[in-house]
Amino acid sequence: MTSTIQSIRGMHDILPSDLPAWQRLEQTVADIFTRYAYSEIRIPVVEKTELFARAIGDATDVVEKEMYTFEDRNGDQLSLRPEGTAGVVRAVLQNGLLYATPLRLWYAGPMFRRERPQKGRTRQFHQIGAEVFGAHGPDVDAELLALCKRLWDALGIGGLRLEINSLGTAEERAAYREALKTYFAAHPDALDADSQRRLERNPLRILDSKNPDMRELIAGAPALDSYLGEASRDHFDTLRRYLDDLGVAHRVNPRLVRGLDYYSHTVFEWITDELGAQGTVCAGGRYDGLVEIQGGKPWPGIGFAMGQERLVELMRLNRKESGAAPHLYFVLVGDSTTSAGLALAERLRSALPGLRIQLNLAGGSFKAQFRRADRSEAPLALILGEEEVNNQTVSIKPLREAGSQQERMPVEDLENWLRKWLSDTTARGPVSDPPMH
Ligand code: ATP
Ligand code: MG
Repeated sequence: MTSTIQSIRGMHDILPSDLPAWQRLEQTVADIFTRYAYSEIRIPVVEKTELFARAIGDATDVVEKEMYTFEDRNGDQLSLRPEGTAGVVRAVLQNGLLYATPLRLWYAGPMFRRERPQKGRTRQFHQIGAEVFGAHGPDVDAELLALCKRLWDALGIGGLRLEINSLGTAEERAAYREALKTYFAAHPDALDADSQRRLERNPLRILDSKNPDMRELIAGAPALDSYLGEASRDHFDTLRRYLDDLGVAHRVNPRLVRGLDYYSHTVFEWITDELGAQGTVCAGGRYDGLVEIQGGKPWPGIGFAMGQERLVELMRLNRKESGAAPHLYFVLVGDSTTSAGLALAERLRSALPGLRIQLNLAGGSFKAQFRRADRSEAPLALILGEEEVNNQTVSIKPLREAGSQQERMPVEDLENWLRKWLSDTTARGPVSDPPMH
């Protein structure tokens, strides 16, 4: 027998049973972004390697060792995108979108990083991200975080905590970088191999280390806030006041950094304890230097990216995913009922757009059809036999309530019966978008 071919390590199928949660996440995100006046942008999955080298920096793990890079047939160096920001900045410049700022954009899609696969960390993963260009903040910083909070509430995931920090300006960070270098260089034996490598090129990234053995050393490192100037401090304090006024709880984590040089001022992460070691579901910050690095004017910008796999897992743990099981399973008994069943299902789909109908396919005995109805998880079965077709009636049988009776009704009453059933069911279901407070 021929062996079957397996998917690539760290690249997973998203199976039909998981898709309702993915779709609910994506629909909720699209809805909330629209309500905050964001527009969606879709950009290619492959870009010139140089774009990421420039934007992310070649002294980062992502560019140094995680990118899928290959040579095109004409000799161009190309990479699968490891993140979305670089491509969005390129697209915005290339298409002249910065004529009307502030420009609020969002995107979603697959990203690729050749990391060690583990729980919450895959080689193809999916991000939803936002980027705002042309607003200095801190108003937009606060609005972006309120948007995140509204999203968590709408998805029904609680227990996310917001950590924020300020990275100040490039000049302020330069002084801090020297202080960090001095501190870490004084503890050479406590540095792991990654940190030794980072010490010269980018010591801020040592603070981002995930090695538990480094934790103590990092906890003793100097904090950035004593290096902040008045304007940076003011930006940060104002942001915190806005967040307080909005009821967005947050904690200052003075060691929270983004390892990239173009980040400035606000950085943040939304973290959960429910997912083990990979607890950051959303990370972002202000990147006032990035557009200039990419060849544009020095436009300020801020954005975030969230990991869809981790969010879907949180939704699953919080059991708020509304399955997409059909409401109604059509049991068709007798050969001559197929045509009537097809037509009735079409009529109901037109009349009741909220109703999900699964028609029994490929015949089967009454018993076999009920077994399939049960497996479909539909709460209702509709039974159409020869007798029902002849009398212009249908029978409805609740499948998930013990001891419930089958009910027969004229087919002309069915639509109203289902409309009432659907509105009662929806009224009992979870509220999809609770208020912020
Ligand atoms: P980490 O510190 O976990 O490696 P990162 O700093 O590399 O994260 P970002 O580039 O800021 O992550 O990406 C934003 C979010 O995307 C992360 O918080 C996470 O939720 C998700 N993410 C990043 N890399 C992966 C991955 N390999 N697998 C699954 N999700 C990921
Ligand atoms: Mg990473």
